[in-house]
Amino acid sequence: MPETPQYTFEYRDVKHPRCEFKTGSLLIVLPKKGWTPEQVLEKYGEWIKRKRATISAAVEQTNETALVKDRTDKELRSIVNRYAEAAQKDLNTKINKIYYRKMTTKWASHSQNNNLTINSLLKLLPNELISYIVYHETAHNLERKHNEKFWGLVSKRFPDYAGKEKGLLTYWFLIQKLSH
Ligand SMILES: [Zn+2]
Repeated sequence: MPETPQYTFEYRDVKHPRCEFKTGSLLIVLPKKGWTPEQVLEKYGEWIKRKRATISAAVEQTNETALVKDRTDKELRSIVNRYAEAAQKDLNTKINKIYYRKMTTKWASHSQNNNLTINSLLKLLPNELISYIVYHETAHNLERKHNEKFWGLVSKRFPDYAGKEKGLLTYWFLIQKLSH
């Protein structure tokens, strides 16, 4: 793995501190009052260590050949459209519009008016994970938060959604590794 900075932190309107690994390095999210990054590191040190170990094991196990290298943007769009059709039918909801751009912090996002933005890096992923991402984002039409209701919806089509999330994390780090 490339050298990653120890951590970055930002203050948000949250009640409890939390740690995120989404962007390939550790982000500590702090409530506006009461916590310093050092206190969070102290409290979550073991969790962070375990998470880092999981990530580097995952990256070591995956190799470059796992990436789909010959898919065009046009092909990605047609695959996403196909999965979006299926997801809308399954979930009985309607996506407004699908946008594509290269994003550096996430695979996709969902906006309040039911638009999806798809990271164009999705073209490197196997079909099954593209399908999962599209379904996940479409399910956000019905529930914005990652709560029990949301995972209930997702697990109807992807009982192994935790495995998919783990796979996505691996690919994320693999792509980061190769682009450095
Ligand atoms: Zn989500």
